[in-house]
Amino acid sequence: MAQPLFQAPPGTRDLMSPVTDRMRAMVAAFADEATKAGFGQVTPPMFEDVGVFVRIGEATDVVNKELYAFEDKGGRTIALRPEQTASICRVFAQRRPLTPWKAWYYGANFRYEQAQKGRYRQFDQVGAEVIGSTDPDLDTELIALAWRFYQRIGLTNVTLLLNSLGDPDDRAAYTEALRAYFTDNLDNLTAQSRETLGRNPLRVMDSKREPDQTTIRNAPHLRDFLSAEASTAFERVQSGLTALGIPFEITPRLVRGLDYYNRTTFEFVAPGLDAAQNAVGGGGRYDGLVANLGGPDEPGIGFAIGVDRTLLACDAEDALPAPATAPEVWVVATSEGVEGLEATDRLRRAGIRADRTEGGRSMKAQMKAANKSGAAVAVVIGPDEATENRAGIKPLRGQGDQISVADEQIVQAVQEFLEQ
Ligand code: AMP
Repeated sequence: MAQPLFQAPPGTRDLMSPVTDRMRAMVAAFADEATKAGFGQVTPPMFEDVGVFVRIGEATDVVNKELYAFEDKGGRTIALRPEQTASICRVFAQRRPLTPWKAWYYGANFRYEQAQKGRYRQFDQVGAEVIGSTDPDLDTELIALAWRFYQRIGLTNVTLLLNSLGDPDDRAAYTEALRAYFTDNLDNLTAQSRETLGRNPLRVMDSKREPDQTTIRNAPHLRDFLSAEASTAFERVQSGLTALGIPFEITPRLVRGLDYYNRTTFEFVAPGLDAAQNAVGGGGRYDGLVANLGGPDEPGIGFAIGVDRTLLACDAEDALPAPATAPEVWVVATSEGVEGLEATDRLRRAGIRADRTEGGRSMKAQMKAANKSGAAVAVVIGPDEATENRAGIKPLRGQGDQISVADEQIVQAVQEFLEQ
């Protein structure tokens, strides 16, 4: 094949059936779980004033290196959203819905990343956020929502990692302790981590680079810096998860990539995927973010799940099969009139997946297409059937004779056949 004139940009994919069918099923499962839990869907724009995202934290890679930002024709500095929590908080600050406000979302995000399997420049997320409550039981409820979603789509090999970042003062003290520790161990850090250290020592804990791992493992633990209130809240989350039967691993190094988190943070990893891209979702509390975006000082908590990556995790354990999309019935019509078109339309309106061969092909060619389509039954309308207002119902697989039915009985006859 000749080289095409254009190709999809690096880091993007052309998603096609059956991948799209499975993603749709995944999003529908999430929508249902979120609706049952009292969340309403919010769809913010895909681009915002760049400031909305800069507030996430200027020391983060997402903002610092990966943002798709540009000036629009009106001279505004716009960025494509790299995630949706900041957008949801902007919506809250602008619209001021009643609290606690429970929002779920679905859609594309954009990050200028080094593309590889499971890491793309455009990727979909589903997520949920609650603004307006510090109740730690809510943290548990949110984690449970994500967990029940994974269970619902049949993903079993998922591990919940849990940590508490404490309150801002705890975190500041901890950050200083980390700075001192990493500075003492500079020689054992990669060049990238040494650079990160200058910007934010906490971020070094996020490194997945192998040579950094021993140093990170031996670093001071955040739990030794937690205030009494933060410790009590964290214990409450743990006992809540235990009561709901949701297993978790306390992971002191889990500080998450974004600056705005405090107290509970969590990540879901799929051990079946490559270690560098095995996070299928994550989230945490962000009690200062809404105020940081110019809104009221309302606490928040949320998570995002990577749709693309969760699908890869499903592949690794044969979960989430593609929903059926092949036609159930094929209409074979060789009459002069529009009988075939009418029968197809009637079947579709009755909720049956029905298709036909276009272009007035021969009976033989149409039967061949019918057999290839995967349909279980054909509706056959030749010139004689058309004159008599009848159709043949012909099984395409296995045994069974063709029967003849009146026009108005086509749908019923096909339904009866499919239910057998
Ligand atoms: P984050 O917003 O970075 O916490 O990401 C939440 C989830 O989105 C991750 O756990 C991944 O599953 C997914 N994700 C993040 N970045 C990417 C990416 N570049 N490509 C595909 N999935 C991603």
